[in-house]
Amino acid sequence: LYVEHPLGAGQTVPLDRDQAHYLFGVMRLSAGAPVALFNGKDGEFRAKVAEAGKRGGTLVCQEQTRPLQLPPDLWLMFAPIKKARTDFIVEKAAEMGAARILPVQTEFTNSERIRQDRLQAHAVEAAEQCGGTYVPEVADLQKLSRLLDQWPQERQLMFCDEAEVGNALQLAAETQKGAPWAILIGPEGGFSEAERKRLHALPQSHVVSLGPRILRADTAAVAAMTLWQQALGD
Ligand code: SAM
Repeated sequence: LYVEHPLGAGQTVPLDRDQAHYLFGVMRLSAGAPVALFNGKDGEFRAKVAEAGKRGGTLVCQEQTRPLQLPPDLWLMFAPIKKARTDFIVEKAAEMGAARILPVQTEFTNSERIRQDRLQAHAVEAAEQCGGTYVPEVADLQKLSRLLDQWPQERQLMFCDEAEVGNALQLAAETQKGAPWAILIGPEGGFSEAERKRLHALPQSHVVSLGPRILRADTAAVAAMTLWQQALGD
């Protein structure tokens, strides 16, 4: 179970209504039952139900069962698409070990805003389901051009472009393993010529083809993360 509270041996952790409903209503746990807890910062702890109520309750932390396991420093940047597909991208990025998820507005992005809180909740659920101890932060929507203006010097960029034929990733893997990275996936309409020019000119950019077919953005995000993990993950 994910909680926002600090964790440590002996620590009492209050539960909100939804958490109490899940543990005591859905999972049918009662006082004394064990629960595995994580908060994305302190690792995983074994805890016990101290009080079980309809609208809340408390857990008491016992010992740490796993330390915090940080993923590689990988950002997934993508242009939001339809709601369900955007949810899918966030969920898969969290499962596949992205450290940060950054929705970006490109020239051909249709969405003007996103529900950051909802997307963050999807990232939490994905971390819970895959037994992670870390939850990637989902940033608010920001302009791609702004991000590129302040691009960190050391961060490498896997720029996924269907107009490309080669795969620069294997080569980059030889020199850039261990460096911070970002993957960039475009919107349904792809990137504009001006954006392509700018992305090609960025010294940290490695242009990557995901094969001869044009993939939907949600498929492309999963394919790109798989390739990256294989070439550069640990
Ligand atoms: N320009 C396109 C069009 O409208 O025909 C399609 C863009 S595609 C649906 C969405 C994004 O997925 C692209 O911007 C790119 O980042 C990524 N993508 C899809 N297929 C790809 C491929 N074969 N190689 C690399 N990237 C791909």
